[in-house]
Amino acid sequence: MTATLIDGKAFAAKVRGLVAAHVARLREEHGLTPGLAVVLVGADAASHVYVRNKGTQTVEVGMASFEHMLPAETPEAELLALLEKLNADPEIHGILVQLPLPSHLNSDLIINAINPAKDVDGFHISNVGRLATGQESMVPCTPLGCLMLLRDHLGSLAGMTAVVVGRSNIVGKPMAQLLLGDSCTVTIAHSRTRELAAVCRGADILVAAVGQAEMITGDMVKPGATVIDVGINRIERGGKMRLVGDVDYASVVAVAGAITPVPGGVGPMTIACLLANTLTACCRANGLPEPEGLTV
Ligand code: NAP
Repeated sequence: MTATLIDGKAFAAKVRGLVAAHVARLREEHGLTPGLAVVLVGADAASHVYVRNKGTQTVEVGMASFEHMLPAETPEAELLALLEKLNADPEIHGILVQLPLPSHLNSDLIINAINPAKDVDGFHISNVGRLATGQESMVPCTPLGCLMLLRDHLGSLAGMTAVVVGRSNIVGKPMAQLLLGDSCTVTIAHSRTRELAAVCRGADILVAAVGQAEMITGDMVKPGATVIDVGINRIERGGKMRLVGDVDYASVVAVAGAITPVPGGVGPMTIACLLANTLTACCRANGLPEPEGLTV
């Protein structure tokens, strides 16, 4: 068997197209422009690239982009004051504070200072609780992107056995909540899980979010399973730097029914879902119907 490729790049372009069409309608019919503010503290090179990409794609779909680049030594009180200003600004519907933050800043405190209705990353404690209890919430972008790909590929997920490897707050846990919300039977595995290969082999849907290059191998996958690779790892191979996932693509592609590649799988969905969340936040803030297919 050779797995079908789940093309996240193409699907993300489709999501951005839907977002752009809805944004155009909002402007035409209601004179509204969704606005996204991104706050970056410090000079982390990878974060700068992410923030630049976010800004470009935000403008491409017709939204307003507000970037706040602060020095690494920015005091906590100053960052909190900026968030208060952004929370109160009616032109801003989404606020994202790029993580990781420099170590002198308390990330939990900062994230929880964002108005939950504008928390387009879905990391505010109130959104985490709302997602867990099945209430309307802002959903973390990467797991939302994975869910969209799974629904598109499989249709209904009800009754399927899903294993999420990784229990981080930003990927593993919200991913498990979303799969549960779609009526999967969900297991969350982690570094202390016993018999990990056997646990993974039970999965109809296997999501790898471990941060370990090519850790999930073909012998850990049930024949025909759908494998979602969230990992982004830079490794050196054959004298060149390469981007690989948490899944060993070469061995898994021979066993799985479908697989997301790295690059070109989950990665492009994250920013597309950030834009979708900003649009959703703008619609909610203005009492307008939410765009279909862009939220859970
Ligand atoms: P993280 O916070 O480091 O969490 C990794 C999780 O994997 C932890 O729960 C850890 O278990 C578990 N783990 C580590 N080694 C393991 C092992 N040998 N066996 C089983 N479980 C193991 O990472 P993250 O932020 O969730 O990110 C995961 C991956 O997704 C990374 O490669 C990251 O770059 C990527 N990512 C991609 C996107 C995207 O846009 N595509 C977005 C976010 C993250 P313990 O809890 O027991 O330590």
